[in-house]
Amino acid sequence: MTELLYLEDSYLREFEAIIIEVNNDKYVVLDKTAFYFHSGGQPNDTGKIICNNVEYNVVYVAKVNGNVSHEVDKEGLKVGDKIKGVINWERRYKLMRMHTAAHVLNAIFFNELGAIITGNQKDLEKSRMDFNLENYNIDEIKKKIEKANEEIKKDLKVKSYYLSKDEVMKNPSLHKLAKNIEDRDVYRILEIEGLDTQCDGGTHVKSLKEVGEIIFIKAENKGKNNRRVYFGLRD
Ligand SMILES: [Zn+2]
Repeated sequence: MTELLYLEDSYLREFEAIIIEVNNDKYVVLDKTAFYFHSGGQPNDTGKIICNNVEYNVVYVAKVNGNVSHEVDKEGLKVGDKIKGVINWERRYKLMRMHTAAHVLNAIFFNELGAIITGNQKDLEKSRMDFNLENYNIDEIKKKIEKANEEIKKDLKVKSYYLSKDEVMKNPSLHKLAKNIEDRDVYRILEIEGLDTQCDGGTHVKSLKEVGEIIFIKAENKGKNNRRVYFGLRD
């Protein structure tokens, strides 16, 4: 199993690792990685793997058969090679800000409107959030986004830690966003102090201020009770 370095330090931009598997000459598994694999509505990182002074672009990262597979753009990497990984930080940092912003919005929509969040997709320019809400009013939605921005200005602390399966199972609010919660011994928790606590394996900023300002882009009706909001971040 690849050690996921970003779970402990989401600000880690470079790391060293050993190649433990190469499939079809371009899918590389490492003993540890700071590359985020596509999951939980957060897109994968991109970046570079450097080995013997040759740079390989990492174009996609996914979890395949329990391992984190880094797809590179050329052949040449071998099992046992010592590599340096470099994350495309501009992309990742934007996705971290987006992901934390989504948690703030999810919490406010749930706490204040009783909206059940049914889906999330984070992206660089705009992210979307799907939710169940009978009465739909665009001004209401804009007001909640303003409220989210007030919370962000308070610069609440964002922290992660682990809880046992027992603790997670007896507190359903910790996994209200999960469609089917993965069975494991310990769960990583992401807490925005005083606002939201969730099981989460994503990368986040350390303090809310870093999110900046959430911008409303548009809202759509996706059928009975089903709403979709698109939002972005001011640069
Ligand atoms: Zn999340």
